[in-house]
Amino acid sequence: SIRRISEDHDKVFATGCMNIDNSGPRANAAFVVLARNKELDGVIQSIKSIERHFNRWWNYPYVFLNDGDFDQDFKDTILNHTSGEVEFGKIDSSMWGFPDWVDHEVAKEGIRKQGDAAIMYGGMESYHHMCRFYSGFFYKHPLLLKYEWYWRLEPEIKYFCDITYDPFIKMAEANKTYGFTIAVKELRETVPNIFRYASAYKRTHSLKSQGLWEMFLDTPKEEDREKKEPEQEKLPEEFDMKPPEVDTEAMEGEKYNMCHFWSNFEIARLDFFRSKEYEDFFEMMDRSGGFWMERWGDAPIHSLAAGALLAPRDIHYFRDFGYRHTTIQHCPANAPARQLPRIPWLEKTTEDEKKRFEEDDYWATADPVKENGVGCRCK
Ligand code: GDP
Ligand code: MN
Repeated sequence: SIRRISEDHDKVFATGCMNIDNSGPRANAAFVVLARNKELDGVIQSIKSIERHFNRWWNYPYVFLNDGDFDQDFKDTILNHTSGEVEFGKIDSSMWGFPDWVDHEVAKEGIRKQGDAAIMYGGMESYHHMCRFYSGFFYKHPLLLKYEWYWRLEPEIKYFCDITYDPFIKMAEANKTYGFTIAVKELRETVPNIFRYASAYKRTHSLKSQGLWEMFLDTPKEEDREKKEPEQEKLPEEFDMKPPEVDTEAMEGEKYNMCHFWSNFEIARLDFFRSKEYEDFFEMMDRSGGFWMERWGDAPIHSLAAGALLAPRDIHYFRDFGYRHTTIQHCPANAPARQLPRIPWLEKTTEDEKKRFEEDDYWATADPVKENGVGCRCK
């Protein structure tokens, strides 16, 4: 469980209010933002938030990626709001869309059926391509090859707390591979067969759990312990289009509990994804057709890969980050009151800046909040 990860293997990187010391070296890292021109407003909201709460002190670069072309207005507006270097990249057909080896008509029919079944985003072809891109390609994009670390940003997210240390550097120092703020349960109907493939990967590569895999397992209720048979979902016939050369039936009685790290926030080492092991994992998942015949998200893909390949000590839970994406948020312990003037690094801020903080979501306390890092209040 996440509790175990955090308590046994993982400590918060900083507690209490800190003076920002941004004099140290930067990590070889960038923000990665996948977006479309029409999402500009939402992207700007996210950029404003991360700049105000973190990047105005650290100036990390950004890489914007799109399967289409960013227009001039998008680029100009982004450049007006970012403090670090910015690169804009296009994703070509080798990383986006149906590959040659899949029958496009079969895949499209699979997607259409998911639309009819009202599976969330199931009927939206572009969403399937997006999930596959984030599962198996983003880290190979030419603009990302020079980087060792990335921090994923999405449109319409919000950070509530100042991030007063460099999370890349802290992760490197603590020898961490993958960081998250929120873990939630996936909608079962979007991934009915994902676990049998992930489980088959783990078994065919003779991978022993290092203690993280269990986070993704259903713990059977006492009364169900007797029935050893795992509840198997029927493979949809569409999977026949390219069956993997492995026996996906035997799952050693394990069942996926649908838990996953919510990947719209991620800070991770890119070499995890670039490893032979992850590549093999993605290849096997991809060949199953599950990115089209089901609506596998990149979040459960990243999570199950981590479960198969990493240990709890490799994972960092950023429980001190106040973070919101659409309707789900993570909020560190709420501060008792707004105490803006007492925050050391804000004492030099202008009246205008203070006013902006007042109007927006800035709540903080000068008192260390037990275990949760910089105090923060989330609306
Ligand atoms: P949700 O968070 O699961 O509701 O999905 P989003 O609509 O936010 O998509 C996830 C990320 O992928 C966001 O950064 C989107 O901007 C991006 N995205 C989704 N679909 C596309 C697409 O077709 N093209 C591009 N360029 N970006 C996309
Ligand atoms: Mn989103």
